[in-house]
Amino acid sequence: MKPGMRVGILGAGQLARMIALAGYPLGLEFIFLDPSADACANKLGEHLHGDYSDPGLLAQLAERADVVTYEFENVPADVAGFLSAHTQVYPSPKALAIAQDRLIEKKFFHDIDIPTPAYAALDSLEHLELVMPAIGYPAILKSRTQGYDGKGQSVLKSADDLSAAWNILEGAPAIVEAFVPFKREVSIIAARSVSGAVVFYPLSENCHRGGILRVSESKEQDPMQQQAETYASRLMAALDYVGVLALELFDVDGQLIANEFAPRVHNSGHWTIEGAETSQFENHLRAILDLPLGSTAAIGKAAMVNFIGGLPDTKQVLTIPGAHLHLYDKAPRKGRKVAHATIRAETATQLSTQVEKLAALASQVNDS
Ligand code: AMP
Repeated sequence: MKPGMRVGILGAGQLARMIALAGYPLGLEFIFLDPSADACANKLGEHLHGDYSDPGLLAQLAERADVVTYEFENVPADVAGFLSAHTQVYPSPKALAIAQDRLIEKKFFHDIDIPTPAYAALDSLEHLELVMPAIGYPAILKSRTQGYDGKGQSVLKSADDLSAAWNILEGAPAIVEAFVPFKREVSIIAARSVSGAVVFYPLSENCHRGGILRVSESKEQDPMQQQAETYASRLMAALDYVGVLALELFDVDGQLIANEFAPRVHNSGHWTIEGAETSQFENHLRAILDLPLGSTAAIGKAAMVNFIGGLPDTKQVLTIPGAHLHLYDKAPRKGRKVAHATIRAETATQLSTQVEKLAALASQVNDS
């Protein structure tokens, strides 16, 4: 690795910030492109301030970065395509384009034999009414693009809900999918390097509320690990994928059903900073720079709790044994992830006791 290699990142939020924090010990430098003047990774590198599709800024990013990656999947796919004509972009613009559109993503899962909920693409309220007998209630109406943390989604409990849910979309392209009666939600975080080396982390078991991730716990030797790895390998091979990928799955009595994948480091993998031999952030950098991937072995038991909307009393967090606090340097705002804490413990009992304490602190500030 050349000293002072520079990694370009589209987006300068908390994921970019944690990638940069993992990169400094490896001697890396960072340059971010982000439209927000006070984006929270800015202090960790150079900030190109402006729109993702600003041709001048993209040209600068391509020229100054040895490799470009992104921290969120809603950057326009043609921007990644433009950049990849001038520099290395990982994960590929193709992976980004698929992950950006729930319909294309579901078809892609189908093509490679990864099960999904029953779904239908929609272009009108009449069309929604027509497909509902086949999809059945309850169901979820989702915008095809620009959705994250449950945004642009409505639960349909009966035919009475259709019209109001459709109106919320304001004409955005949509899909409807059957509500999966899952036992739990899990995700598998995997990394694949330029050379094709692949590693998997122990499964994360995830608890969402209001469509937003609240708590993730690492699950070493989970009975569903193998099935999740099989699906993630298939996905990465089909995409000739490079970087960290998160595949979100519903566990329905021992059968995994895919919800979506994120072509990036993921909130359900934050526990890997303290809870694994090598964090997802470091392995993402190693993968895109074609360095040997680090061990994903768990260190004890770990869980992560998000702080959403505001910060808890940080001193109280730090008094919890095994707690590691990560502040994102973001102003509090409704529904916004502003920090997380990871708990590491020796035993499952210790872990659940400490997670309960953290969750209680989180519930004092979490606003949705
Ligand atoms: P998404 O933005 O698609 O990841 O959805 C956010 C959350 O909504 C998921 O993590 C689930 O908790 C829930 N959800 C989404 N789709 C479904 C589904 N088809 N069945 C049951 N729950 C769902």
